Amino acid sequence: MPDTIFNKIIDGDIPCHKVYEDDKVLAFLDIGPLSRGHTLVIPKESAQTLDQLSADSAAAIGRVLPRIAQAVLSATGARSFNVLQNNGADAHQEVMHVHFHIIPKYDDGAGLGIGWKAGALDASEGAELAKRIADQCRREA
Ligand code: 5GP
Repeated sequence: MPDTIFNKIIDGDIPCHKVYEDDKVLAFLDIGPLSRGHTLVIPKESAQTLDQLSADSAAAIGRVLPRIAQAVLSATGARSFNVLQNNGADAHQEVMHVHFHIIPKYDDGAGLGIGWKAGALDASEGAELAKRIADQCRREA
């Protein structure tokens, strides 16, 4: 596993504005916020992408994400937010340690901007693809 800036933050070698910590999870303010209150939630486990994360760490993050999101909303007054989770350089991941962004969205538009070019799912291709994914899910359970 390559050492990342987030490992240094977990180890306390680099400071952060911490908002939550338990034995498996750390959350802190993003140093380059898209909007006020932009928060990163990371597992202490070193995994590059979500598909590589252990079920234990994933569960630990899932348990606290709603609570941290509620806290961000309460503290900032924002009423909407996006959770963003990038995996791989092609998908805009810059720090190769799993992280979830909580990004408040404000009335003035500050927050995450999304370009969403929706296609149309072909029924027979969808059926075939869903079967392949379902088969893999069963295999990896
Ligand atoms: P990614 O594009 O990998 O999903 O996002 C990485 C995020 O980490 C970016 O939003 C960036 O601002 C944030 N980041 C990078 N280095 C640091 C740092 O040293 N401290 C903090 N708090 N955030 C960082």
